[in-house]
Amino acid sequence: MIADPDDLRASDFDCLVVGAGLSGTTVARELAERGGRRVLVLEARRHVGGNAYDELDSSGVLIHLYGPHIFHTNNQTVFDYLSRFTDWNGYQHEVLANVHGQYLPVPFNKQSIRVAFGPQRGEELIAKLIDRYGDGEKVTIRQLRDESDPDLAEVADYVYRNVFVTYTTKQWGVGPDEVDPSVTARVPVFISEDCRYFQDAHQGLPADGYTAMVQRMLDHPNITVRCGIDARSVLSLEAEQVLVQGVPFDGTVVYTGPLDELFGNQFGHLPYRTIDFAFESLPVDEYQPSGTVNYTVSEDFTRITEFKHLTKQQVPGHTSIVREYPRDYQPDTDDEAYYPIIDDANLDLHRRYSELAAELPDFHAIGRLADYRYFNMDQVVNRALKLAGRLIDRH
Ligand code: FAD
Ligand code: UDP
Repeated sequence: MIADPDDLRASDFDCLVVGAGLSGTTVARELAERGGRRVLVLEARRHVGGNAYDELDSSGVLIHLYGPHIFHTNNQTVFDYLSRFTDWNGYQHEVLANVHGQYLPVPFNKQSIRVAFGPQRGEELIAKLIDRYGDGEKVTIRQLRDESDPDLAEVADYVYRNVFVTYTTKQWGVGPDEVDPSVTARVPVFISEDCRYFQDAHQGLPADGYTAMVQRMLDHPNITVRCGIDARSVLSLEAEQVLVQGVPFDGTVVYTGPLDELFGNQFGHLPYRTIDFAFESLPVDEYQPSGTVNYTVSEDFTRITEFKHLTKQQVPGHTSIVREYPRDYQPDTDDEAYYPIIDDANLDLHRRYSELAAELPDFHAIGRLADYRYFNMDQVVNRALKLAGRLIDRH
């Protein structure tokens, strides 16, 4: 619902949640349901769901407006919790790298080695990897590049040049040696025949989409959701006090937006990478052989995702794809802050804003933006469940 901030009475609520992404939605549901508290959720965008938001395009394909999202987790608690609000479609994500027109599974695995090096040499190198690390193990590109053995160094060099260098430079504007090691460690070499991108115990998309799942989570008598309201237009933070429309608010505030914006960027802007998404609808049944194809040696976009693979929809004669063009995020524009740039200086800047937030009474900053962390969806739901648990226990 798009609302006028003037018709809000904060005194009608015990809790204010800023942001209706998965973090804010999970906290809101828990506080409302288990905590019995009256929760107001304010969302700046015209819709709920945060970056996981999906909607039908003109061809009837369910597309992800803020980039392709595949849910995967080993966390049984998170999976059981979300499963209260959705069934899952069982999709297992597969990614191929397009290397000069040849397709290689990513993460780079035994099958990729055979394509890259030929069957005979491939088997020799696979044997070497198994001998060194063990069958079924995962090895980061950084680890592999430290190897002095000439065969292992050959594999490392191939993977570095054909999978990581160009893609990482497009995604981050710098090469793999300059990004935080945790970034490339997300996609290790996998000594396996398993061609899935994720090996988690649970994987898939909500059967009727993320937006529908989030709407069900927010559908509770103790929850009021207002979209189209930037909380900064109603919140003021004064001398260790939170005011809502000028009136002191003594309830709980959970804030899932960026902290630098909340505090007027007083120490400077937190840097991010953003992405321009180019959506295209095509008059064909299928565009590419897997959900995502990464362009790891060519093109100025990083990857193309074809949504019908992910959603398992049957839409004959139409398909919808998205190309991703990463670039630097420009503050104070319409750019979306997608990827925090993890380095010591930026974490230090974020810590200074966190210290300001910590001074506010009953104020809790959480989520991918507020924590300035590269979280997957299951991680933010897990953290939100824990925060809500603490807030309920304390009451
Ligand atoms: P968000 O989803 O960013 O939600 C925060 C909400 O707060 C937004 O709706 C925002 O509008 C609102 N907000 C901010 N400031 C204000 C304000 N002042 N007033 C009111 N509202 C405000 N994770 C996976 O597990 N699998 C994937 O495949 C995957 N793919 C991804 C692809 C891309 C391109 C990106 C960028 C992320 C991907 N993620 C993926 C991560 C996933 O998007 C996040 O973990 C998750 O959506 C974070 O939820 P959140 O609620 O913390 O933040
Ligand atoms: N990466 C790469 N080539 C690939 C896939 C990933 O270089 O084919 C690197 C790149 O730096 C990327 C990081 O690994 O940013 C993490 O990849 P992931 O697919 O987890 O990124 P996300 O889906 O979160 O954008």
